[in-house]
Amino acid sequence: MRPEALNPLFAEVQTLEGVGPKLMKPLEKLGLTRVKDLAYHLPERFVSRRAIADLDEGAEGEQVIVALTPVEHRATRPGSRGPYRVLAQDAAGNICALAWFGKAAYGAKKLLPVGEKRWIAGRLDRYGDMLQIVHPDHIEVESAAHMGRLSEPVYRLSEGLTQPRIADFAAQALGRLPELPEWIEPGQLERAGWPAWREALKLAHENTEAKARDRLAYDELLANSLALLLVKAEGRRRKGQALVGDGSLRAKLQLPFGLTGAQKRSIAEIEGDMAQEAPMLRLLQGDVGAGKTVVALEAMLIAVEAGRQAALLAPTEILARQHFETLRRLAAPTGAEVALLTGRAKGRERESILIGLLDGSIDILVGTHAIFQDTVAYRDLGLVVIDEQHRFGVAQRLALAAKGRRAPHTLAMTATPIPRSLTLAQYGEMDVSRLDELPPGRQAIDTRVIPQERMDEVVEGLARHLAGGQQAYWVCPMVREVDGNWEVADIAAAEARFAALKERFGEDVVLVHGQLRPEVKDANMERFASGRAKLLVATTVIEVGVDVPAATLMVIEQAERFGLAQLHQLRGRVGRGAEKSVCLLLRGGELSETGRARLALMRETQDGFRIAEEDLALRGGGELLGTRQSGEAAFRIADLEQVQRLLPAAHADARLLMERDGGLTSPRGEAARLLLYLFERDWGVQLLRGG
Ligand code: ADP
Ligand code: MG
Repeated sequence: MRPEALNPLFAEVQTLEGVGPKLMKPLEKLGLTRVKDLAYHLPERFVSRRAIADLDEGAEGEQVIVALTPVEHRATRPGSRGPYRVLAQDAAGNICALAWFGKAAYGAKKLLPVGEKRWIAGRLDRYGDMLQIVHPDHIEVESAAHMGRLSEPVYRLSEGLTQPRIADFAAQALGRLPELPEWIEPGQLERAGWPAWREALKLAHENTEAKARDRLAYDELLANSLALLLVKAEGRRRKGQALVGDGSLRAKLQLPFGLTGAQKRSIAEIEGDMAQEAPMLRLLQGDVGAGKTVVALEAMLIAVEAGRQAALLAPTEILARQHFETLRRLAAPTGAEVALLTGRAKGRERESILIGLLDGSIDILVGTHAIFQDTVAYRDLGLVVIDEQHRFGVAQRLALAAKGRRAPHTLAMTATPIPRSLTLAQYGEMDVSRLDELPPGRQAIDTRVIPQERMDEVVEGLARHLAGGQQAYWVCPMVREVDGNWEVADIAAAEARFAALKERFGEDVVLVHGQLRPEVKDANMERFASGRAKLLVATTVIEVGVDVPAATLMVIEQAERFGLAQLHQLRGRVGRGAEKSVCLLLRGGELSETGRARLALMRETQDGFRIAEEDLALRGGGELLGTRQSGEAAFRIADLEQVQRLLPAAHADARLLMERDGGLTSPRGEAARLLLYLFERDWGVQLLRGG
C-alpha cells in the first residue's frame, strides 16, 4: 500500500479548485490525473513578451502583445481539418488571423465579438501571405499585467486547456506539497548544492534555475535505477527453469539463407542464457532489417524443443499479424504449432486458441497485449519475446512474466539504436546482444536531400517510379506543435498532401494516420502491403512497421524536423527487396549548421548505431530521451543531457543503497520508497513485499 505521507500528492486532480468533469479529459491526455502530476508538470519554457502597436513592425516569430479588433469569423469548412480563424485588425488596419485547431475554437467564438477591441498575447507567425497567431495565450479586454510579465511559464497543453488555467492548477498543486524525508545521499546533495525536494519543485515552476531542475531529474534517474535494480534482484531470487533444446526442431528449419555471424553469436548468447536456471533478461538490439525475427524464432524453438511454450508480443495488430505469417511459414517444416491472438479474436476462434494454449497443442503464440490478459492461461510458458520493447515498459513485462508457473525467460527486441551511454537508463542492467551486421546483399539506399520548393520535380519522379510498377511511401511532416498537440496539425497536413497526391494518382494512393478507425487503417495498410495501392501517404505511424519489399521509394517531407533515429527508422522501410531503393529527404527551409550536418550524416551512412551516437553528439541536450512523437520517452523530467550527465552518479547511488539496504527498510530506504511511488516505479516496491 502506498505510504500515507503521499496521500495529498496522490489526490485526484478533481480535488483542485476549478477542475470539473470537462477538464478531466484534456488533463488526462497529458497524463495529469493526480495532484503530483501537476506539480511535476514543469514549464516547457518561459516567455517574455513585447507590446507592439503595429503588426507590421517586424515582430514576426516573436512573442507579442497587441490590441486587435475582430472583423470576421471564418468557421472551419465542414469535413476539413483546417483551423477556425478569426481575422482581426490593428489600429493601422493591418490584418492578422487568430487560429485554433480542433475544439479549442469554441472558446474563441465567445471571447472575440466582431468590432470589439481585445488585447491578444501570443506568438506572431506568418502562414502563407498572412500574419497569424495560433492559439493565443491570452485574450483580455484590457491590457493586463500578466500579459507582459517577464518570464511567464509556458506549459505543455492539450486541447481544451489554456495557459492561465494550467498555471493556476500547478500553483494549487505546489501549495499542497507535504514535507518529505530526503532520499538523496546527503554527501551528494551537498556536493551538488541542490535544494530540498519541495523547494526544487517550486523553483522549477518559477524560472529555469538549473540546480532545481537537476535535482528533480536526478530524483527521476535515481528512482529508475533503483526500480530496475529491484527487478534484477527479484530475478535472481525467483526460480526460472533451465531450458535446453536438443536441436531437433531447429535442424528441420529450411531457411533460404545462411545466418550472419551476428545472428549466430546472438543465438548462442540466448541459448546460453536459457540453459541457466535464472530467468534470462536479454535485449536484442538490431537495426531495421538486421534479421531479428529469425533469432527470435530460434529462441522460441529452443523452448519448444524443451517441451515448453513461447509467446511473442508485438506492439500493434498489424505487426502481430505480420510476425504470425512469417513465423508460421518459417516454422512449418518443424511441425511447431503457431497461433495468433489479438484483441480482435472473438467467440469460437478465441475459445479454441485459449484451449490450445491450456492443453499445450499451441507451441508458439503471437499477438498483441491481448496475450497477457488475465483470461489467457498457458500450459507451460517458457519464453517471452517482446518486439519493440519500449512500447510496453518493464511493469507490463513483469505482469507477463508472472504468467508462467516458473518465471519464463525474456527476450526483448528493439530496432531503436540506442547509444551505449543510454542503454543503462532505458534498459537497466539487461544483457545486450547486438546484431551489428546486416545480411549480405543489401543494397545501399540512395539518400538525397532536396529543397521542398522542388516538390514538382519530386512528384514527377514519383510518377515515373510508380509507372515503373514499384511502390512508394510518402511521410508527411510534423507540422508544428499546437497547444502541445502534435497530432492535430500533423493530420491536417497529411490529409492535405493525400488530397493533392490523390488528384494526381487516383485510386493508387492510400492514407494512414493515427486518427483513422483501426479497421480503416488496417484496410489501407493491407491494400498497400498487398500491392493493390501503390503509394502510402502517412504520418509517422509507419515508423515501426510493415515489410513491403516492393516499396523502394521513401519521401520524407521537412526531414529536418525529425530526429535522426526516426529518419533512420523510416528509411529502413525501403531497401528490403532486390531493387535499388531511394530515399528523398525534403528540407523545408534554410538549415542551421547542425541541421545540415544531421542530414549529411543520413546521406553518408546507413549504420543505425553510428547515427544514434552521432545524433547524440550533434544534438546535445534539451531533447527528451527518445522522442515524444513516437511515445517512447522514458523520462518525464530528465532530458537527454541530464541523463548523460547525472545518470552515472544516480546509478551508483542506487547500487550503494541496494547493497546496504536491499529491503529498503532504513530511514533512507523508506524515503526511497516514497520516491519510487512518486515516479510510478512502485512495481519495484511491490516486488520487495512479495519477496
Ligand atoms: P528486423 O526484424 O530485424 O527488422 P527481419 O527479421 O524482418 O528484420 O528481417 C528482414 C529480412 O531479412 C527478412 O526478409 C528476412 O527473411 C531476411 N533475413 C534475415 N536474416 C537473413 C540472413 N542471414 N540472410 C539473408 N536474409 C536474411
Ligand atoms: Mg522486426
